[in-house]
Amino acid sequence: MNRSTDLIALEEDRGAHNYHPLPIVLAEGEGAWVTDTDGNRYLDWLSAYSAVNFGHRHPRLVAAAKAQLDRLTLVSRAFHTDQLGPFSAELADLCGMDAVLPMNTGAEAVETAIKAARKWGYRRKGIPADQARIVVFDGNFHGRTTTIVGFSSDADARDDYGPFTPGFDSVPYGDIAALAAAIGPDTAAVLVEPVQGEAGVISPPSGWLKAVRELCDAHNVLMIADEIQSGLGRTGYTFACEADQVRPDMYLLGKALGGGIVPVSAVVADREVMDVFLPGTHGSTFGGNPVAAAVGREVIAMLATGEWQRRAQELGKHLESALAGLPRGKVTAVRVRGLWAGVDLAEGGPTGREVCERMSRLGVLCKEAHGSTVRLSPPLVIEPDEIDRGVAALKQAIGD
Ligand code: PLP
Repeated sequence: MNRSTDLIALEEDRGAHNYHPLPIVLAEGEGAWVTDTDGNRYLDWLSAYSAVNFGHRHPRLVAAAKAQLDRLTLVSRAFHTDQLGPFSAELADLCGMDAVLPMNTGAEAVETAIKAARKWGYRRKGIPADQARIVVFDGNFHGRTTTIVGFSSDADARDDYGPFTPGFDSVPYGDIAALAAAIGPDTAAVLVEPVQGEAGVISPPSGWLKAVRELCDAHNVLMIADEIQSGLGRTGYTFACEADQVRPDMYLLGKALGGGIVPVSAVVADREVMDVFLPGTHGSTFGGNPVAAAVGREVIAMLATGEWQRRAQELGKHLESALAGLPRGKVTAVRVRGLWAGVDLAEGGPTGREVCERMSRLGVLCKEAHGSTVRLSPPLVIEPDEIDRGVAALKQAIGD
């Protein structure tokens, strides 16, 4: 038994995880590739759930981090740094909004948005105290904190963690009539993923996001777009909402904002919403720290030219046509959004987990979603021949 198998066996003995990592111990990464402790190389088609959109250790991002490590790393939240102001201004500009509240993880950004929406509901909309409601969607994934898992429809995420925070109504994703019925006078916000990533790269029906926007406008409800996984280039746009010409009231960002180097997340909104937080009423020790802000600024500068978004669109077309060659009968659906895809496997064939294990033995890392879907999120630095290689591995793993 080698070291890596040993480690996984230990984890399994403990029985503490319902998600077992593949029996591989990674030690190095560069661009689209990672290497394990035995020197085997793999194409990384998971990209840390889209946190490594620009590939492993992108030289510009590493340089930004190193430069900041030599200057200043952390200060007390009572003080600004020379990175925080520019980071906030540049991110607000990228989003076309006024104000940024930096946090660390995606779940913290979601929690921050929930607080902002509730406070906005009481202070601006006039919802009676403690009555504010937020509409969410079945199949959502917004993180793992107790409030967030409380409105998850996934039993694995939710079971045994109650009692949960009240005030959430979940309706079917893509169903505008159900949303209209769920919105009432006490609804403060609608929290939506423009593409449901963890659910298996699921897009709503065409025009639905626009209809959500219109409903929110009609009922004075905030539209909060969780673009933590879909945002920052993955779908071929800076924001997936852009594809539908929708401007939400709040963007939630994370993952790729930290360049795969540091945890960085943010809530971005207009002043009218963000100003419900008075100085000192919300924050975190590490939120907006100088290293996070320096790396985040470099990510924003990379996205500002549009080249990564174009690359995701072009390579996404390549991925889509390669996936069109998957064996019918073994695959029931293929959904592609930019450089992001969900492949549904037919019943009776290998499970998503089995396909991912086989692919890892063929040198490609990816992850299943909900048992029978394989999710593909290669880093945006991937080359066309590497896409072909990954799809060939998928084909072989599914069995032609
Ligand atoms: N929101 C979405 C859409 C996500 O996909 C995720 C993570 O996968 C999160 C929120 C939570 O982010 P984090 O794991 O950084 O807390």
